[in-house]
Amino acid sequence: MYRIIVILSLVMITSCQGSISRIGKPLLGTVINLTIVGDPKKAPQTSQAVFDEIERIESLMSPYRQGSDVYRLNRDGGAGPVAVSAETYDLIRKSVDLSAETGGCFDITFASIANLWDYKNKNLVPPSGPAVAALLPLVGSRNIILNPGKKSVAFARPGMKIGLGAVAKGYAVSRGIDLLRKKGISDAIVEAGGDLQVSGTKHGKPWITGLRHPRRNVILLTIELADMDAVATSGDYERFVMRNGVRYHHIIDPRTGYPANTFSSVSVFSKSAVLSDAYATAIFVMGLEGAREFLKRHGEIDVILADKKVNLYISRRLKERITFLEKAGVEWL
Ligand code: ADP
Ligand code: MG
Repeated sequence: MYRIIVILSLVMITSCQGSISRIGKPLLGTVINLTIVGDPKKAPQTSQAVFDEIERIESLMSPYRQGSDVYRLNRDGGAGPVAVSAETYDLIRKSVDLSAETGGCFDITFASIANLWDYKNKNLVPPSGPAVAALLPLVGSRNIILNPGKKSVAFARPGMKIGLGAVAKGYAVSRGIDLLRKKGISDAIVEAGGDLQVSGTKHGKPWITGLRHPRRNVILLTIELADMDAVATSGDYERFVMRNGVRYHHIIDPRTGYPANTFSSVSVFSKSAVLSDAYATAIFVMGLEGAREFLKRHGEIDVILADKKVNLYISRRLKERITFLEKAGVEWL
């Protein structure tokens, strides 16, 4: 689960400036890790508030939890409008916008076809071309019907499904950081399965995170993070199954219905955890040339891209903040 590894030399060590507590909990199908600078006696209670908040988000947006907004929408949305919470509605609306903005590379209706690519099934038989073609018409956010007054969502085509897996972690992370700051904690990290946002500093020094090598279990590089930097990574190396030398993994190209076959790892840096999360998935689908075009229009993000051979493409702006731990060829973007 840890494609971004948070590097902390001072875990639970008290110093004159206050101590650093690190507390984790399994949620959202991954582990949420909180790093909090401050009075360690208060840390358990503060952490619990963040975990409660993320659990609440999960209960609204998990496709597996009976009664969640997404569960009900996937079951009933083909038959007519389904009323959802304002929060779920807003994230779905945002996702529909993101789909248009990314040329359909990010599309929450990928879920309509995801059953064909069950990477958790070690005996997966890759679907036939006709099987993919038969379900592909169910993929496309233009077939999501939104009613802003009623906060309801419907699907134009029966059988459609959505999944918020590419934004939910970012959303949870941003809610976690907001909550900590409201509670007066200015120095912290909230991390969900590798996606993270930082607040403040580690005793006046920048927080540092490590990026995993996509093909070996080592840290490729470390990078310094500024206040409110949010990082998300999409990779093909954790959720996948190999068949005849082909890697079938969990990021689907909504335009073709097949797993995206471009990068091995895409990390996006911005000041919004939701955008970093969504753009990492989108750029993973776009591929290198698509990413170059996209980056020209999106000066608000920086990236670290690794292709299948682990050649790196990195935003020039990040140069001063990176320390390489492994040798790698880099093109500075
Ligand atoms: P991870 O969840 O491993 O951190 P991502 O943030 O890239 O990685 O999210 C991948 C998840 O997003 C998939 O497991 C799936 O739920 C969903 N997804 C897959 N392809 C797409 C896509 N093209 N657009 C939006 N969501 C997607
Ligand atoms: Mg993502």
